[in-house]
Amino acid sequence: MTPLLPYGRQSVTEDDVAAVVAALRSDWLTTGPQVDAFEADLARWTGGAGCAAVSNGTAALHVAYAAAGVGPGDEVIVPPMTFVATASSAVALGATIVFADVEEETFTLDPAAVAAAVTARTRVVSAVDYAGHPADYDALRAATGGDALLLADAAHSIGATYRGRPVGTLADLTTFSFFPTKNLTTAEGGAVASGDPQLLKRARRFRNIGLVRDRDEQRWPDEGGWHQEVHEFGLNYRLPDVLCALGRSQLRRLADFLAARARLVARYDEALADLPGVLTPGRRSWANPAWHLYPIRVLDGRRREVYDRMRAAGIGVQVNYIPVHWHPAFADLGYRRGSCPVAESFYQQQLSLPLFPDLTDSDQDRVIDALSAALRAAPARSAA
Ligand SMILES: *Cc1c(COP(=O)(O)O)cnc(C)c1O
Repeated sequence: MTPLLPYGRQSVTEDDVAAVVAALRSDWLTTGPQVDAFEADLARWTGGAGCAAVSNGTAALHVAYAAAGVGPGDEVIVPPMTFVATASSAVALGATIVFADVEEETFTLDPAAVAAAVTARTRVVSAVDYAGHPADYDALRAATGGDALLLADAAHSIGATYRGRPVGTLADLTTFSFFPTKNLTTAEGGAVASGDPQLLKRARRFRNIGLVRDRDEQRWPDEGGWHQEVHEFGLNYRLPDVLCALGRSQLRRLADFLAARARLVARYDEALADLPGVLTPGRRSWANPAWHLYPIRVLDGRRREVYDRMRAAGIGVQVNYIPVHWHPAFADLGYRRGSCPVAESFYQQQLSLPLFPDLTDSDQDRVIDALSAALRAAPARSAA
């Protein structure tokens, strides 16, 4: 049997391997020159916003919320159409999550829903660039008001632009993930970007256990040369030199990765435009997306059946995502189904088709054929 064609996967070349091997042979395995260099290279993709590399995208969110000062009593507004970590990392700091629904067409956070959800306790509003399509940041900024910070969970969207401005410059804090299915990889990895030096400094400190090494800032600077202090608690979320070397090598191909994804998206758009029973992803005129996912909608209650048929045909389709407030951990806290109808009805239809830079045209044609065949098959009964 041929192996399952995955919905996403990394593209690793001999250059990437050589970069990792060189880092392994160097004097540094963890915090060394590759970390600073990777952060500087990343900042070329974030419109100059400073970057802090961290151990994964979930850690990036935890670090960003900590830098924003999120704690017990604070509310964080999150769209349900995302990976659970956008919300759970703020819960870990004691925050209360307020779910706000998404917009039709892009399934990114709806500014009107944010305006209705903001209270005096709102500390952060977290947008998610679902599938790589930027949220409507100008409208979200207006809806957020002056007191809360705007966060972009850009796990899908490094390299995208909004009204010509790059992801990284659109929110007060931006987070990335470099998991293998994402737009570039460091195996596990992530980053926090911010144009605000104070937020970036707090992020760096939380990433490194909260250690204060600068004597000017220490409470007891005359303790001795070895001295370091913790003023606020942090964690060890450092990304090692070895993985930063991989990240630097991957960044050299990020423009190619994004171009390959865009070409495959255009091919899907064309092949599926007239296929009855599915809708292709929407795109706003002001967005230049960095397509991480290709999310279609399967109509007539047939998503589960089409998922099963395509899986049986060896096509690794995926569903992104179960609405976050449906997770038992949130249900047990009292969050109810039905509170975010746009996200919830989208979830019932959503299916991610395989999309990654090395996907061949013939494999993509196989996906299109399997989808057409699944839709042509007699509908299974009781697809509620
Ligand atoms: C992947 C992802 C994360 C978490 O990143 P990890 O590196 O897997 O921890 C967070 N948010 C979104 C939207 C993601 O897709």
